[in-house]
Amino acid sequence: MIVGTRKPLAEIQGMVRGARRLLLAGCDTCVAECVAGGRKEVGELAAALMMAFRLSGQEVEIRETSVDRQCIHEFLLEVVEAAAGAEAVISLACGAGVQALAARLPETPVFPALNTQFIGETAERGLWLENCRGCGDCMLGLTGGICPISRCAKSLLNGPCGGAAGGLCEINKAKKFDPEVPCAWLQIYDRLSALGQLERLLELAPPKDWSQGEAGGPRRVLRPDQRP
Ligand code: SF4
Ligand code: SF4
Repeated sequence: MIVGTRKPLAEIQGMVRGARRLLLAGCDTCVAECVAGGRKEVGELAAALMMAFRLSGQEVEIRETSVDRQCIHEFLLEVVEAAAGAEAVISLACGAGVQALAARLPETPVFPALNTQFIGETAERGLWLENCRGCGDCMLGLTGGICPISRCAKSLLNGPCGGAAGGLCEINKAKKFDPEVPCAWLQIYDRLSALGQLERLLELAPPKDWSQGEAGGPRRVLRPDQRP
């Protein structure tokens, strides 16, 4: 899932300055799961914005909508319809959803209410972890299903750096994390050990082709068999 967090209210209010009719558009999948941009959060943001505008002496009409996914054309049509008459739209989707919506509303400004953070998982209530950077060349098969690109602070490919202490990554010395960040490579070792597959660590991971990831510029997946 895509994990996001809401921007500060003042920043959102500043982006839509001058607009008198607003539409708030939520996305009920990833960003709802991380309690940042779903239907419920749309309602909360609408109430907070309404209060902030009133306090600053402005009368603003705020409408609300939410769809299952703002990154898929069919769902977006509903938001486009709801945006009729709006002077600005605030999208609570991830960056992909905001852009997909903006592309379908050429005459209406669309603003992001969230900071899109990463591809991750809900580890426990209130805790989301980054566990994939979309590198385009997945090596989980070599590492016991634990990603060294996203979970090792140095994205090391062939074992630990030597800075770990007590099972924890040395990144904890530079920055405060709660809970503290484990050393991904120690986790990989423990996992492969438990699976009886430690010999996999003897296979050297070749130099990574980073051009398959974000370093290679805008990426696209083209599936001729799925095209009309
Ligand atoms: S190796 Fe690459 S694709 Fe696989 S989980 Fe890690 S970042 Fe994601
Ligand atoms: S301590 Fe472990 S997780 Fe942290 S940078 Fe070193 S190898 Fe990577």
